[in-house]
Amino acid sequence: MPGKGRSLKKDLKKMLKGKAIKKGRKAGAVKPARKVIDHDRELCNDCGACVSLCPATVMWLDKRSNLVVEKQKCIGCGNCVDACPRRALSLD
Ligand code: SF4
Ligand code: SF4
Repeated sequence: MPGKGRSLKKDLKKMLKGKAIKKGRKAGAVKPARKVIDHDRELCNDCGACVSLCPATVMWLDKRSNLVVEKQKCIGCGNCVDACPRRALSLD
């Protein structure tokens, strides 16, 4: 059964890769990816409730009072997520 053998080989490769990553994390060599803010423009009503809660000044209201989100500056603290009345913010 060549198909089954290939599948076992794949499973073994996956398992070994997983173990290697775990080992690397313990040794501090592999860091888990940092979560950053995800803003759903459709849900947001630009109320601005999130703006003052952000320690990294990721978001602000522009001249037209539209929320601007500079997601690459996010440090993933999560302060803004629970504050949003429209559930427009999440960590991804
Ligand atoms: S708190 Fe939510 S709805 Fe209000 S501006 Fe921020 S993301 Fe938009
Ligand atoms: S998670 Fe923290 S750093 Fe990122 S946008 Fe929200 S408040 Fe700012």
